[in-house]
Amino acid sequence: MELKIENLSKTYSNGVHALKGIDLTIPSGMFGLLGPNGAGKSSLMRTLATLQQADTGTVTLGDIDVLNEKEKVRQLLGYLPQEFGVYPKVSSYAMLDHIASLKGVTGKGERKDLVASLLNKTNLWHVRNKSLGTYSGGMKQRFGIAQALIGEPKLIIVDEPTAGLDPTERVRFHNLLSEIGENTIVILSTHIVEDISNLCNNMAIICLGEVVAKGHPAALTEKVRNRIWKKAIEKAELEAYQEEMTVISTHLKAGKTVIHVLSDDQPDNTFAASTANLEDVYFAEITARMATITT
Ligand code: ADP
Repeated sequence: MELKIENLSKTYSNGVHALKGIDLTIPSGMFGLLGPNGAGKSSLMRTLATLQQADTGTVTLGDIDVLNEKEKVRQLLGYLPQEFGVYPKVSSYAMLDHIASLKGVTGKGERKDLVASLLNKTNLWHVRNKSLGTYSGGMKQRFGIAQALIGEPKLIIVDEPTAGLDPTERVRFHNLLSEIGENTIVILSTHIVEDISNLCNNMAIICLGEVVAKGHPAALTEKVRNRIWKKAIEKAELEAYQEEMTVISTHLKAGKTVIHVLSDDQPDNTFAASTANLEDVYFAEITARMATITT
């Protein structure tokens, strides 16, 4: 199954033009949607999850018209929103059992097996009878995935899933996502480049409501290969470098500021070649897009 988004636009009533003609074709497997805060990721995710209207455009999931056949989409959808509220006094077991019955898993035995398998898969079996309010951030996220997996969804949307998780919880969450079947479309929306480079075969970068790059992470990285240069500078020198060249990112390393510059040729012999990675692609695309509005 394929999710096809064509010319999708949305302007909120306050005048913010959050989505500007998004075109994306998303195949089965893990798809990463990367963009800075405010890029439009949640607006797009909420539209795909049938929770808000678009102004123009079409979206199809297989032969389903996503924007108009909402009930059909919901039967195939698993959604983990950015803000995932839980009922603090209810246990994960009771909650999953309840959601499963709402989603149409009516047989008692079938539901029992399903809930047990989800709790095991998300490593929550040992805390199944504890109330959700006592769970850590990582446990809540894993519970969020467990509920999203009920009903064998064909489209799973997870919005900023690793924000606020510690490194161990993040790895565990990644492993869980990567175990979801290859025949399911999983869209992972995030501003964390590493989440995508570790997990996704396909991706898009969005900025200011537009798709600025899309494809395989390795193919995108190829575009900046041999064009990234690095140098450690004093923080006070940064502005001067930014005026002279395309500084795409700055990192602090041992008290020094290390800049990455995008350039076809070595800017001068004080710069060293840097192996291009997905983070360089991301910053190069965002810098280029931002430059079009600031100049
Ligand atoms: P992201 O998820 O990439 O951070 P969002 O989709 O949340 O981006 O936001 C895109 C833009 O739309 C931002 O400028 C944001 O302030 C604005 N926005 C998001 N939701 C609403 C809303 N309900 N009403 C008005 N503006 C909104």
